[in-house]
Amino acid sequence: MNTMRLSFLLGGVLALAAGLSSCGGEAPADSAKTQAILDMKRATDHHSYSRPEEAVVTHLNWNAAVDFDTRVITATATYDIETAADAERIIFDCTDLTIQTVRVDGEAVDFELGPAQPFIGQPLSFPVSGDSRQVSIDYQSSPEAGALLWVEGDNPFLFTQSQAILARTWIPCQDSPGIRFTYEAHVDVPQGTMALMSATNPTAQSADGHYDFRMDQKIPSYLLALAVGNVEFRSVGAHTGVYAVPELIEAAAYEFAEMEDLLVAAENLYGKYAWERYDLLVLPPAFPFGGMENPRLTFATPTIIAGDRSLVSLVAHELAHSWSGNLVTNATWDDFWLNEGFTVYFEQRIMEAVYGRDVSEMLATLSYQGLVDEVDAIMDLNPDDTHLKLHLQNRDPDDGLTAIAYDKGYFFLRRIEEVVGRETFDSFLKTYFATHAFSVMDTDRFIDYLKSVLLTSDELLAAVDLDAWIFGPGLPENCPTVSSARIERVDAALAGWEAGTTATRDLPWNDWVYQERYRFLSNLDDGTSPERLAELDAAWGISTTGNNEVLFAWLEQSIRSQYQPSYERLETFLVEIGRRKFLTPLYKAMVDTDQKALADAIYAKARPSYHSVSTGTMDELLAWSE
Ligand SMILES: [Zn+2]
Repeated sequence: MNTMRLSFLLGGVLALAAGLSSCGGEAPADSAKTQAILDMKRATDHHSYSRPEEAVVTHLNWNAAVDFDTRVITATATYDIETAADAERIIFDCTDLTIQTVRVDGEAVDFELGPAQPFIGQPLSFPVSGDSRQVSIDYQSSPEAGALLWVEGDNPFLFTQSQAILARTWIPCQDSPGIRFTYEAHVDVPQGTMALMSATNPTAQSADGHYDFRMDQKIPSYLLALAVGNVEFRSVGAHTGVYAVPELIEAAAYEFAEMEDLLVAAENLYGKYAWERYDLLVLPPAFPFGGMENPRLTFATPTIIAGDRSLVSLVAHELAHSWSGNLVTNATWDDFWLNEGFTVYFEQRIMEAVYGRDVSEMLATLSYQGLVDEVDAIMDLNPDDTHLKLHLQNRDPDDGLTAIAYDKGYFFLRRIEEVVGRETFDSFLKTYFATHAFSVMDTDRFIDYLKSVLLTSDELLAAVDLDAWIFGPGLPENCPTVSSARIERVDAALAGWEAGTTATRDLPWNDWVYQERYRFLSNLDDGTSPERLAELDAAWGISTTGNNEVLFAWLEQSIRSQYQPSYERLETFLVEIGRRKFLTPLYKAMVDTDQKALADAIYAKARPSYHSVSTGTMDELLAWSE
């Protein structure tokens, strides 16, 4: 996923009543039948009720009908299961699902829905035995299902966002990243729309609204994904293509034309791509994240269509997840850095291979800037949240979506690269992905693996200092330094302009790429006067830029400087776009500068079009109540 929660902005750890049911590791273990069962003995997932060591799913057959009028998915989820010899029950995770009928090997059985707990929903449990092979659940989703966003209007659209624990709001599942299964699906949707999943996908609309899918590689439930809308497909390479609504398909095909190059670069680095095709779906602007690495089909925000291919690092990030995350998966959300830290490192390496170190080091410099800011903020609130290894029991796993997992994780791996050398580290990573493919990894196992094959001497261990990085607060002293001559020139130009030089004469704005423009705008002094922003806008027409990263930095500074001419653009931006990475700092800037009434007025208009992931954060930030 490409996102930052900026959870520190919200303050306060959610203190929940103790006693949440968490079942991993409690059931008597039988001789393990599957790798899934073996893997799950190693780490306890506090965010799932399932007990895979007793009964675990191996394959899903999902038969579903999507109704836009009622905003309900009516479906049957049939799972093949494996059970321990003395198994008595199987447990699924559910949130806001209406369960109608449950069958075990074709026979209807009584089922039990336990009480709903904060964040993790309800356990659905029913009897099975050591001989049970298949279970089947008839159910309906709720119109308020947290994973689903229904877009109304002339072009209705539905998409899901399952990570971290929202898959259970649209499919009853054993919703733990350590449990993998294959799936097939049959989905009925309105005529005039195409259905797409994290699976084999159609490239044209069917006449009757029926679509069939297969996913033959084992995935965890958080990678279950569905989108429905009037989209078209364009191939951009031998194994790559884009889906978008007709109005955006040409722009998308141009913007992402280099996807095949990124895929080739990734394979050259860390081994063969395991998922056959890599396609990208451009979602409506309400999508709460930059991208989501749904296997075979990345879901992406349209805000990365800049017209000049300048924001493709997001594609490199989602593509990298095809190895880190989708192939080798964090065992629990406490180990989230294993997904995201590796992915940022891999993303940087793809960017370096395709666009040069000049470009990748600019990105690394911006990532360092964001990390330092976020570490400072989180240290004030909850220093433990700056450890790579998190403790999210009784909390929303979404709290772990900060720059720590992403960028502290990245700099940790970059430190190891510094110590052992690039060639050695690359060969380590290639072997790591191959050895643990389609499996799970937790922090302790990773440390054991690292010590056994890479950091094999006391000298190497001392040079890296695993404890400081993984179990310690803030940024360790041996954090690698990044430098970019281009960024340094931007900083010098900014200092000069703040000391009184003239925008049109002294700033090479038109020669700058977006990273340089972003650096300039995001480092402007909070107290910059509206008159000086007017000077920049008059010189470079910044408020009409097509690059949403640059526009975002401009709007945030406009709020801090109370530069009123930007406010109309600010409102349309916030009403149209639901990407949380942009929303949180913009609303927060309004709150910080005594413009909360403005924030409330805009939010009242925008909120109905946001996904639950974004409203969850913004409701808290603005103390919103309906
Ligand atoms: Zn990611």
